[in-house]
Amino acid sequence: MPMKKPDIEEFFRRLAAALPEPKTELEYRNVYTLLVAVVLSAQATDTGVNKATKELFKTVDTPQKMLKLGEAGLTKHIKTIGLYRNKAKNVIALSRMLIEEHGGEVPHDRDALQALPGVGRKTANVVLNVAFGEPTIAVDTHIFRVSNRTGLAPGKDVVAVEQKLEKVVPAAYRLHAHHWLILHGRYVCKARKPDCPACPVSDLCQFKAKTVPA
Ligand code: SF4
Repeated sequence: MPMKKPDIEEFFRRLAAALPEPKTELEYRNVYTLLVAVVLSAQATDTGVNKATKELFKTVDTPQKMLKLGEAGLTKHIKTIGLYRNKAKNVIALSRMLIEEHGGEVPHDRDALQALPGVGRKTANVVLNVAFGEPTIAVDTHIFRVSNRTGLAPGKDVVAVEQKLEKVVPAAYRLHAHHWLILHGRYVCKARKPDCPACPVSDLCQFKAKTVPA
């Protein structure tokens, strides 16, 4: 059953009270390195990406420097990350496109972002939210699960959930909704065994198979 409006308000009020200024767990130095980190994070953990980019971003923080490093050089840094060959190709190609078409800057524009190699709707949403402060919600596996389980924004695919969230998340919470939901899914409402006894929104959640204290 979908969650009711006053419960949705309360749901976000509690998540916001627990963590007023949530941040992405991906490490980055500027908008360009954020974009690269998000591209690398597809089907990989933030921790794994941070380990790989720690050294890389110390010296490579612009598309120009990335092209100078080259695909082989980049591959050496990121080969602990899943799908690294393809990701290295995409990062080099998107860096070239940023230089050729956007003066070396990351564009503040959804269509232009999604035209970059390796950048889909989710990546564009994260960059628009984190770098440009837009109230976008990038639905990943955690947000998809939490939205469906709790009844917050049930939907059969990520686009349906994203559209639903855009309708139901109160304006005051829109900017940070993406991070609150990801962190809630990553640390409390976990995929295999949600920690319902410790969940701050369990009385609002509609999930029928809540876990109980051991
Ligand atoms: S009560 Fe359980 S299922 Fe519901 S949001 Fe909390 S952790 Fe997830």
